[in-house]
Amino acid sequence: MALTFEHDTLGQRVLFGSGQAAQLLADEVGRLGSKKVMLIAATYEAEIAAKVAAKITPAVIFDDVVQHVPIEKAEAARAVALAEGIDLLVCVGGGSTTGLAKAIAMTTGIPIVAVPTTYAGSEATPVWGLTEAARKTTGIDIKVLPTTVIYDASLTYSLPTELSVASGMNALAHCVDSLWAPKADPINGAFAVEGIRALAEGLPLVVADANSEEGREKTLYGAYLSALSFGSAGSGMHHKICHVLGGTYNMPHAQTHATVLPYVLAFNAPAAPEAERRIAQAFGTATALEGLQNLRAQLDAPRALKDYGFSESDIAEAVTIALPIIPANNPRPVSSENLTALLAAAWAGDDPTALR
Ligand code: NAD
Repeated sequence: MALTFEHDTLGQRVLFGSGQAAQLLADEVGRLGSKKVMLIAATYEAEIAAKVAAKITPAVIFDDVVQHVPIEKAEAARAVALAEGIDLLVCVGGGSTTGLAKAIAMTTGIPIVAVPTTYAGSEATPVWGLTEAARKTTGIDIKVLPTTVIYDASLTYSLPTELSVASGMNALAHCVDSLWAPKADPINGAFAVEGIRALAEGLPLVVADANSEEGREKTLYGAYLSALSFGSAGSGMHHKICHVLGGTYNMPHAQTHATVLPYVLAFNAPAAPEAERRIAQAFGTATALEGLQNLRAQLDAPRALKDYGFSESDIAEAVTIALPIIPANNPRPVSSENLTALLAAAWAGDDPTALR
């Protein structure tokens, strides 16, 4: 079959070096000629942010970060950036912190230098997310893609093991979902497969030793590739379901992705043989689901949506909201019945093989 595709390669500077964030950031602030930096980091991330910003003098330190970026928080942060004449946003933290910087960039055009401390991957995508009246909206705007990303694996040592696993599974979900997402192509597919391989190697090392430099570096590298694949391929069925669960039921992002992934994989894989083959190959297992489930067992990954605040009585409403936004080109047709079965199984933590 002829190879025909359309792929946008996005321009972003990526600096990767353990223990080097402070110097890399100071050099980058100088290179960009910034005079007024707004340092964004949640209160929980303040200590890490102080280390990262040790060689610069921020004009503003902003810590009012809330998961899923409520619109009123975004507007307050935008007002501060404009009032202070900020010319560079530096965000240090997880996806929520990067998300707030993106919300500011979206309306002001101020560039971002992102220093991620989880494996969420938001720093490498042009995707923004905002939550208004309990509905999460996402969109694409090149203005929100950070100009530079600084990856320093030593900043992730403090990420608790449970959260490291959930966040790493979130990255794995970017890879898996991008193999059948609306704009899947051979280039984002290549990133996805290498991302799965790196995450499957790195995460067990992190679980064995939270301070494993090799484990943290491999996982962070895999998280970056996962974000490249997701940012390019777009949101597939898995991400659409998780956006509804996060935005409407305020569920924790990484744990929700970690829980839902095996169910979407079990559901879609029989109808997506090429994705199935490539995921299995990346894991080195006979089937994709076997590889994922082996890894999940090894990591003691999150199992059931009921453990994260989702009620059985919410399933019907969640199906109604998610069904219309699931991409029409999903490999397997999605109906109210089979989506209800998928969410019921994920709620209970049942064996996903029943969905095949
Ligand atoms: P998060 O940013 O909410 O962080 C989770 C928790 O970990 C927070 O309490 C945070 O303070 C803490 N934390 C972060 N780094 C730490 C560290 N190194 N040590 C100790 N604690 C640390 O969660 P997340 O999973 O990173 O991001 C989730 C958000 O990112 C969601 O809103 C999601 O929609 C968004 N996201 C967006 C994209 C995109 O492309 N736009 C991609 C992925 C995720």
